Amino acid sequence: MRATIIDGKAFAATIRDKVADHVARLREQHGITPGLAVVLVGEDPASQVYVRSKGRQTVEVGMTSYEHRLDADTSEAELLALIERLNADPDVHGILVQLPLPDHLDSDLVINTIDPAKDVDGFHISNVGLLGTGQKSMVPCTPLGCLMMLRDHLGSLSGMEAVVIGRSNIVGKPMAQLLLGDSCTVTIAHSRTRDLAQVVRRADIVVAAVGRAEMVPGDWIKPGATVIDVGINRIERGGKSVLVGDVDFASARDVAGAITPVPGGVGPMTIACLLANTVTACCRARGLPEPEGLTA
Ligand code: NAP
Repeated sequence: MRATIIDGKAFAATIRDKVADHVARLREQHGITPGLAVVLVGEDPASQVYVRSKGRQTVEVGMTSYEHRLDADTSEAELLALIERLNADPDVHGILVQLPLPDHLDSDLVINTIDPAKDVDGFHISNVGLLGTGQKSMVPCTPLGCLMMLRDHLGSLSGMEAVVIGRSNIVGKPMAQLLLGDSCTVTIAHSRTRDLAQVVRRADIVVAAVGRAEMVPGDWIKPGATVIDVGINRIERGGKSVLVGDVDFASARDVAGAITPVPGGVGPMTIACLLANTVTACCRARGLPEPEGLTA
């Protein structure tokens, strides 16, 4: 069997189009332009690339982008004061603080200072609790993108065996909650899981979010399973630097029913879902109907 390739790049473009349509409607019918504020502290090169990309895509869908670039030695008090100002600003509907923060800043404190209604990353403890109890929340972008791709490809996920490899707060745990919300039978595996191969073999849905290059070989995959590869790992191959996932794509695509490639799978969906969360947050703030198909 040759797996269907789930094209995250193309799917993300459809999400951005839906967001852009909704943004246009908000402007025409209500005179509102959703605004996303992104805060970057320091000069981490990867974070700078992400922030630039987020800003560009925000503007492309017709929203306003507010970028706040702060020095690496910014004090916690200064950063918290900025977040409080953004919380109070009615033109800002979403706030994202780019992680990781420099070591002298307490990430949990910073994230939990964001107004949960503007927490478009879905990392605030209130949103984590709301998601965990099946209530309306802001959902973390990467797992939301994975869920959208799974629903698009499989339709109903009800009753399926899902194995999430990785238990991080930003991917693994919220992914498991979302799959549970869609009535999957969910296993969360991690570095202490015994006989991971056997655990993965029973899955109809595998979500790999580990950060170890090509760790999951094809012979761990149940024939016909849907494989979502969250991993982004840079390795040297054939004298070149290349990006690979946590799944060994070459062997897995011969067994899986469908698989996301790296790059071009989950990655593009993450920023698309950030834009989706921002327009959703804007609608909620103004008491307007939310766009359909852009939330969990
Ligand atoms: P993380 O915080 O480092 O968590 C990794 C998880 O993998 C941990 O729960 C860890 O288990 C588990 N793990 C490590 N080695 C393992 C092993 N040998 N067997 C089973 N589980 C193992 O990473 P993350 O932030 O969730 O990110 C995971 C990957 O996704 C990274 O490659 C990251 O770059 C990528 N990512 C991509 C996007 C995107 O937009 N596409 C977004 C976010 C992250 P323990 O808890 O036991 O240590």
